Amino acid sequence: MIENLSYPLFEIPVIGIYLIVLAFLFGTVFASFITCTAWRVVRNENWMLGHSHCDTCGHELSTADLFPVISYIALKGKCRYCGSKVPPRDLIFEIILGLLFAGTLALHGSIDAVVIATLALEVLLLGLSLADWDSGVIPDGFLGAILVVWIITVGFMPDIHRYTIEGLMASLCAGLLMAIATAVISKILGTKQSYGPTKLAMCLLLFLHIRGACMAAGIAVVLGIIFALVCRSKKRKVSLAPAISIGCIVALLLADVPLFPVG
Ligand SMILES: [Zn+2]
Repeated sequence: MIENLSYPLFEIPVIGIYLIVLAFLFGTVFASFITCTAWRVVRNENWMLGHSHCDTCGHELSTADLFPVISYIALKGKCRYCGSKVPPRDLIFEIILGLLFAGTLALHGSIDAVVIATLALEVLLLGLSLADWDSGVIPDGFLGAILVVWIITVGFMPDIHRYTIEGLMASLCAGLLMAIATAVISKILGTKQSYGPTKLAMCLLLFLHIRGACMAAGIAVVLGIIFALVCRSKKRKVSLAPAISIGCIVALLLADVPLFPVG
């Protein structure tokens, strides 16, 4: 039971603050890992065993070059070996995921299976959003990992049957609606649209109650239109995973969803 795993985070304020700082540091480390993984997946490199290297000179990076945030600041955003400028993108996402980890812990006020599942989702959604933005494809491996997180999380829910059925119903309804919308848009535009966003929404709605699903869908639609306009203005493939991911994370953190069975 989740309640047995929980403990009040702020009962001793110093420990609460310490854990939030620790969560931030873990967030930066996981961001460093997942941004690198997404980059390798997009380039069809071995994401588990490959070595990180400079994109300009190809020099393999040492451990000292790979500390999240610190290495970038210490090297002033340049490659140690060739001096070429390293874009600040990874640094920005390391800080964002660090803040998300810290915020998730602070908002939830305890550490339990639900918080761990939320953190895992944040990591995976960052990875698949970056992969989608860079390649226009949502890799199935990330979606499989999200399903594994859901299957494990369900085992910790107080009412397994209810959450499973509600999650599956929401997932199937969203999948059906989005699949129809994708087919219609493909027909109107005369170009084949990807079913990746449909699969992603189906995976994420497993985690959300009706209120959370509505909140996530509302945010995803508004951001999706903005992302689509940005992509079109840059004459690049439309990436919807970032919009769907942001909608889901906001809903997970703020909506009254089953993942947060308070009390
Ligand atoms: Zn270099």
